[in-house]
Amino acid sequence: MRYAIMSDIHSNLSALEEALRVAEEAKVDRYLCLGDIVGYGPSPNECCELVRSLPGMFIRGNHDEAAIQPGKEMWFTPAARACITWTREQLTAENLAFLESLPEQEVVEGAIMCHGSIPNPDLYTTTPEEALLSFQVMGGQLTFFGHTHYAEWFRYNRNSELPVEEPRPRGGFLRLGRDSQFMINPGAVGQPRDGNHQAGFVIWDQTAGTVELLRVDYNVADTQRRMLEAGLPENMALRLGLGI
Ligand code: ZN
Repeated sequence: MRYAIMSDIHSNLSALEEALRVAEEAKVDRYLCLGDIVGYGPSPNECCELVRSLPGMFIRGNHDEAAIQPGKEMWFTPAARACITWTREQLTAENLAFLESLPEQEVVEGAIMCHGSIPNPDLYTTTPEEALLSFQVMGGQLTFFGHTHYAEWFRYNRNSELPVEEPRPRGGFLRLGRDSQFMINPGAVGQPRDGNHQAGFVIWDQTAGTVELLRVDYNVADTQRRMLEAGLPENMALRLGLGI
């Protein structure tokens, strides 16, 4: 079975459509989404509807949660808060119900899907020390997570003190050796922050035991134009072109 794993789509329809086109070409069987379908971008309903139409499993992120639970955005930056308030006003009842129905965590063929970390969906996993918090409670070999918008993986061997962090902002290929555990971040589809503006996602070939991190070009200017037309903060549109 081959899975496309996408995270942090953030209402960026152009980026999502391009990632899905490449995933389809790569003949994936199912789709997994690690949360934050909405927030920041200009197309929350279109992105929800596209994800809902895919065969697969999806979990919720902190922005999806803030969209359905007013008050949660008090922890956001002012610009992110403006985006989520706008998003909440746009979402249809069906799409709000869809976001509400998403679980916080899932297990697929023994692999954990979580948003930020296994113990806490809101926790950012950015360092080996933070990754260790998840490895300590991870029973199986594999976890997929998002939230930081950085494409990378952590490799952990129980004999070593700390996991090894391997950033992959330009993509990468990983063979899942039996002697290690892995935490894999596909990066963000809709708002990468690892210095590469291209949309990031992963293809996990569960049968072959491999993971491929991909980056694809999409029409950034189109998303930026739609953001400005919607009255969303200009700095949120600008950052898409920079990958920050
Ligand atoms: Zn996010």
